Amino acid sequence: MKFISTRGQTPPLGFADAVATGLAPDGGLFLPETLPDFSGQLARCAGLGYADLCFEFLRVFATDLPPETLRSLVAASYTGFAHPAIAPLRQLGPRLHVLELFHGPTLAFKDFALQLLGNLYGHQCRVRRESINVLGATSGDTGAAAIHGLRGKPGAAIFILYPDGRVSPLQERQMACTGAANVYALAVDGTFDDAQAALKEIFADQDFRTRHRLSAVNSINLARILAQCVYYLYAWLQLPAGERDEVEFVVPTGNFGNVLAGWLLQQMGVPIRGFKIATNQNDILYRLFTTGEYRVGALRPSLAPSMDIQVASNFERFLYYRLGRDPARVRAVMAQFQATGGCRFEPGQEAAFTTSRCTDAEIPEIIRRVHREHGYLVDPHTACAFKELTPGRVSVVLATASPAKFPETMQAAIGAAPTHPSLEELKQRPLAKHRIRAEPGAIKAFIAAHGV
Ligand SMILES: *Cc1c(COP(=O)(O)O)cnc(C)c1O
Repeated sequence: MKFISTRGQTPPLGFADAVATGLAPDGGLFLPETLPDFSGQLARCAGLGYADLCFEFLRVFATDLPPETLRSLVAASYTGFAHPAIAPLRQLGPRLHVLELFHGPTLAFKDFALQLLGNLYGHQCRVRRESINVLGATSGDTGAAAIHGLRGKPGAAIFILYPDGRVSPLQERQMACTGAANVYALAVDGTFDDAQAALKEIFADQDFRTRHRLSAVNSINLARILAQCVYYLYAWLQLPAGERDEVEFVVPTGNFGNVLAGWLLQQMGVPIRGFKIATNQNDILYRLFTTGEYRVGALRPSLAPSMDIQVASNFERFLYYRLGRDPARVRAVMAQFQATGGCRFEPGQEAAFTTSRCTDAEIPEIIRRVHREHGYLVDPHTACAFKELTPGRVSVVLATASPAKFPETMQAAIGAAPTHPSLEELKQRPLAKHRIRAEPGAIKAFIAAHGV
């Protein structure tokens, strides 16, 4: 299978190359050239364990990898999960289920994709006999998950920039206490935007980029989207047969990445009723799906920080289908968005989506309510999804992080902070962080000195 760019000005690439490239050179995002039809395979997939299901799904796309290689990379990606079901589906009430996506090494759903991406990068280093230096900027969860995907991988080093003092202490420990020699947690003197700006400048230096074989870790990699399709399929297969066609997945999202994966699976013939896009107070997607207007607003830091985004970078993938798969129209809309900070959509194919928005004042209330009604603890991101479930609908809420990652918010909401053994253990370990100026020159010098 080949992968095309949403902007149509990059030659189609195979899976391994599209994953290694990340962002297409024309500025677009990679998508499968055609979407396969999975409807005929559902019965056969019903009894499979998580890793086997993931292999059966990905082999349709990763046709340039030998099947046995893919199988072992996938198997290795889910061994670090603490729950035997990997993504357990729990029933909270009649027609109400929670899909727990927080049993991976960093206790958030990003592990599903970044464990796999780390193994794909590791494989690439082996077959090409090349080393890579992976660089990313994070406001928290992505950096931790990327680090845990690459720690200890021969031939790879990972450098993650984060704003010093502005990620939670536990998130910092997840990045800076791995003890792995190929991990560099770089605490930048500045904001996340400063870190992001420095990163952009470093990637713009083609010479440095090539010399150090730099690779980006970000939210738009094709492998992340495809890996995330799998847990929707897994959940769908666990539902009682009579509920499957009726199900609405309720997805806490900022970037549109998580919900896009589910929507793509629906387009591949899995009969899902629809999706609810649950935002926090950074509500660009809520406004889009209620008004048709896609417009950047001011960023307001929230209690669900991993959804604090202004521009939903994966939205362009949905746009491609929404605009009749016409890359020229995608380019025109993205150019208008770039120039004016907004664009309008005619009402149309949005029937598959409902949406809700959750303010910071509501998050602790919802955590209390879900605890009271169901005896179940949700983290602040998952709480956004419980804002308003569609009455009468079969709902599967995606629980994207463990509540133990957010002790302060949980303490404020229910008067107690849940703990998790892996986080307690981190508190005992030495913190290996490197303070650095938010300046491309300083960061490049660090990479040149420590990279592989
Ligand atoms: C990243 C993240 C999200 C948002 O994911 P999208 O890629 O924006 O859909 C939600 N919850 C948690 C805990 C996260 O780490």
